Amino acid sequence: MRITLLTLLLLMLVVADLSASSRSLWRKNEAAIAQIEQQRFTEALDLLLPLAAEVPTNKTIRKNIATSYLGAGQQQIHAGAYLRAAELLQKGKEYNDQECRFWLLRGIALLKNGQMGEAEIELNEAWAMSGDEPLVLQYLGLLYYQTDRMYEAVDSWQRALDLDPGNKVLIERLAKARRELTIEKELDHDYSAHFVLNYADDGKTNIGGDILDALEDSYTWAGAKLRVYPERQTTVILYTRRQFSGLTGSPEWSAGLFDGKIRLPIGGLDQVDDRVRALLTHEFMHLIVREIAGDKTPFWLNEGLAELAARELRQVPFEDLVEARDNNQLFALAELEGSFRKIAPQRVGLAYEQSYSFVRYLIDRFGWYPMAELLQLFKRRVSATAAMKQIFGEYGVDLFLLERDWRRQI
Ligand SMILES: [Zn+2]
Repeated sequence: MRITLLTLLLLMLVVADLSASSRSLWRKNEAAIAQIEQQRFTEALDLLLPLAAEVPTNKTIRKNIATSYLGAGQQQIHAGAYLRAAELLQKGKEYNDQECRFWLLRGIALLKNGQMGEAEIELNEAWAMSGDEPLVLQYLGLLYYQTDRMYEAVDSWQRALDLDPGNKVLIERLAKARRELTIEKELDHDYSAHFVLNYADDGKTNIGGDILDALEDSYTWAGAKLRVYPERQTTVILYTRRQFSGLTGSPEWSAGLFDGKIRLPIGGLDQVDDRVRALLTHEFMHLIVREIAGDKTPFWLNEGLAELAARELRQVPFEDLVEARDNNQLFALAELEGSFRKIAPQRVGLAYEQSYSFVRYLIDRFGWYPMAELLQLFKRRVSATAAMKQIFGEYGVDLFLLERDWRRQI
């Protein structure tokens, strides 16, 4: 009898203890939910992951962890931290392997990071899980488009549009891809290690081979300067001036365009001279900049670096810079942060020269090494002023002081 009583007592203690611990578990879970509601997903994970270690099979905790990983991954994509996003989303899959958004978002992160092979696996898996979902088809289409599978791209986007007929982005993309396809299906293809060249081969000259050689030279040069060597092949398309204007809607002064593919209005060339090499390397530098910095680089830096690469191959005298300096008509650098398309056509030449001159000044003074670091900050959406301060602050200067000093010495 005594033994039974003791057992009962002990049992009651265990029950009391269990319920105390489950109360504390419940409280921590509540705290995590409050964090999730405020979109503070990392903080929620800090609370939830230790709980999952205590009660690994608790469904509520696992569901909240999956929600947090999904939210955190999405936030990292918005912040441009694609690798971190891919890492978080991969972990999230362990907590809910039925949630197709883990595969979709991870596919998007990898696509944006240029990891096309891995992105394709993720997006195909998302498609297998969700079927024809507009967003999945839209990104699959983008992947096909960027890897030069134009028919598949058009097909995916058309299916997405059938499901989401009012989607303006899709309508535009599809129309553009169809126009491009009309021209590209007439073109020939040549390949090198890092490039696919689409152009009209006249069969008489070796233009294709010469252009690919020039591009591979740019690849080596820019890679050595900025320490990045993209693994995937880049598509380069040579158009006639008319095709180029019709397709890209680029202004008359535009000598080329990089939008993931390098597009140049130089079809029908009969030789590859320094002018053409300079054009090729200018556009390739835009690719390298986007590779490191994403799409938030100030234009003066992006165009300055591209012009610097071009002028390594072809020195041309300044046409506007000196005069603008003398007449006090230089741009403030802040005016050159956004697209040059907004600038009056007669001032565009100055915008390029000034961008080049300032970037040349920075590299002459500090070398190439800080440039790659500076570009990396833009990927994290840091402003130009803050990024310059972070990189050049250790030399006791910032954007304002550098711009002032540069103006004195041109
Ligand atoms: Zn450019």
